[in-house]
Amino acid sequence: MTPEVRLGIMGYPVAHSRSPAMHQAALQHCGLSGSYQLLPTPPEQLTETMQHIRSAQLTGFNVTIPHKETVLAHLDALETSAQRVGAVNCVVREGRGLIGHNTDAGGMARILDGLPLSAGRAIVIGAGGAARASVDALACRGWRILVANRTAERARAAFAGCAEVLPLADMTNREVEDASLLLNATAAGMGRPHESPLPAAIRLPPHLTVIELVYTPLETRLLRQARTAGCTTVDGLALLAAQAADSFEVWTGRRLPDEVFRRAAESAAEAPEGAERAAGRVGAATT
Ligand code: NAP
Repeated sequence: MTPEVRLGIMGYPVAHSRSPAMHQAALQHCGLSGSYQLLPTPPEQLTETMQHIRSAQLTGFNVTIPHKETVLAHLDALETSAQRVGAVNCVVREGRGLIGHNTDAGGMARILDGLPLSAGRAIVIGAGGAARASVDALACRGWRILVANRTAERARAAFAGCAEVLPLADMTNREVEDASLLLNATAAGMGRPHESPLPAAIRLPPHLTVIELVYTPLETRLLRQARTAGCTTVDGLALLAAQAADSFEVWTGRRLPDEVFRRAAESAAEAPEGAERAAGRVGAATT
């Protein structure tokens, strides 16, 4: 008999995560029996949750804000992209060990490979974990990268030697004209449909491909600006689905189309309470 696949997501807050819905749909699609639990973990409870995870014999779990970096100290080994990025969003149990992966980087790599673009100049806005995963995927494909971040010092510390850095407020139309790809890896626009990460004077040229990582709302102001300008666009659910498909493969060895995950994430957005029910929700999720 196939053993039950026991999965979860550790972060804080996690109540509105779409991962339970995505992975429940994937388990169902494969006819596997299993569960995907919410593991709400405030920063001071990380050690306790990791002890619980080890004793509860989870098959694997996702890691989200604020633990993508702090979890490293609690793992037994890291796969290479997690080592390069210095952050983990997916952990798998192998024997008695817990191995960290970065499927945000792998998912972004697959998105880039699916675009009709050859490596050129890319602008990445942001300097957090999502920006680091995106820069890793771009750098591995030979892109020349300019990072623009609100706090330039943070970007200089994160990308010394692998990208040029500019304060976001200093970005001009010249940099944007020179680029073939612009990627928003900031939280600007998240929950705020009228906010864009772009300085007001920036005009997007139609030759640009714009990748958005924010997916609430799905149609962000940046994506509206890009579509109006005639740019090719990729929305935030593309990476959400791609990293989920890669995580599911790490845990189960089963490769499913990103579309299975995307459809489940879209349904969860329409009926969030249904997604929580489907999750076999445990613990005191807070948002
Ligand atoms: P993080 O480590 O907290 O970094 C946040 C980044 O956003 C920083 O660069 C910060 O700039 C910038 N920022 C925040 N508010 C801003 C604003 N109003 N204007 C300009 N810059 C702003 O977060 P993260 O993990 O990298 O995630 C970044 C975003 O990507 C989040 O919205 C997250 O939901 C999204 N994400 C999506 C996926 C997906 O699958 N689609 C995967 C991962 C992350 P400072 O350094 O100046 O504070």
